Amino acid sequence: EGTLALDVRVAPLGARHVLLLVEDRTQARRVEEVRRDFMANVSHELKTPVGGISLLAEAIADAADDPEAVARFAGRIRAESQRLTTLVYEIVELSRLQAQESGAQMSLVDVGAVARDAIEGTRTVAEARNIEFVEVLDPQTLVYGDPGLLRTAIANLLTNAVNYSTERTRVAVSARNRGFVVEVAVSDQGQGIPAAELDRIFERFYRIDAARSRATGGTGLGLAIVKHICANHGGEVTVWSQEGHGSTFTIRLPAASHGPVPGAQAESES
Ligand code: ADP
Repeated sequence: EGTLALDVRVAPLGARHVLLLVEDRTQARRVEEVRRDFMANVSHELKTPVGGISLLAEAIADAADDPEAVARFAGRIRAESQRLTTLVYEIVELSRLQAQESGAQMSLVDVGAVARDAIEGTRTVAEARNIEFVEVLDPQTLVYGDPGLLRTAIANLLTNAVNYSTERTRVAVSARNRGFVVEVAVSDQGQGIPAAELDRIFERFYRIDAARSRATGGTGLGLAIVKHICANHGGEVTVWSQEGHGSTFTIRLPAASHGPVPGAQAESES
């Protein structure tokens, strides 16, 4: 931080003048550093499940006469392979988003409908933990966006809300038309996030409790993906949390129809 990377070139211009070309490479260098860090993290993160799988394969070979142990190890190999598949998928997704090559198909999208879809997709996981979704979805929550990417962003927040909550609690989901912005909020009654971690959780591969994240099939990429999807839509994601009480993640996107939509106003004030 604070250092500039300048590329300086000098070209003679006749006998008494020189042309000085100064190119600011600071931004380019920073991008390059971020890319290198990411690649280092990726190889580290990939080594963990691959290492696990190869150890488990050895264990199976050694336990050939113990069918119960073989079945147990095989189950763990399956779980690790699944993790690896998710990880590879999310790494590719995030790289595309970062390069702004997400192949986004922008159209007029009803965010409330997308949220409803994401809720349906997460319901089985939620039911397994006895967590109930409570939703308030305004009509007329229109944005220009890619429905698939927006669904991914909302689904990632829902999955986290379910995974980091206590059993038998509620997760509130709302999609509201606030005039210039459309707001999606996901609130859980879970463990909350320490104030000092709030900025860091959006970083790639950052987890507060790696063991817990791994146990729930997390990759540490979910929130980084949400952040990039929001940024690519001209929006943002923010978090509010109180330790021991719960967290609220809010996505704000520029509304496609600026100003209050007639008829939707009364409901969005409730
Ligand atoms: P992960 O795959 O680990 O869930 P994310 O990028 O989605 O990765 O989240 C990063 C970290 O932020 C998680 O490991 C967890 O520690 C914390 N976190 C995310 N969502 C919540 C939440 N709703 N409540 C508590 N902690 C959360």
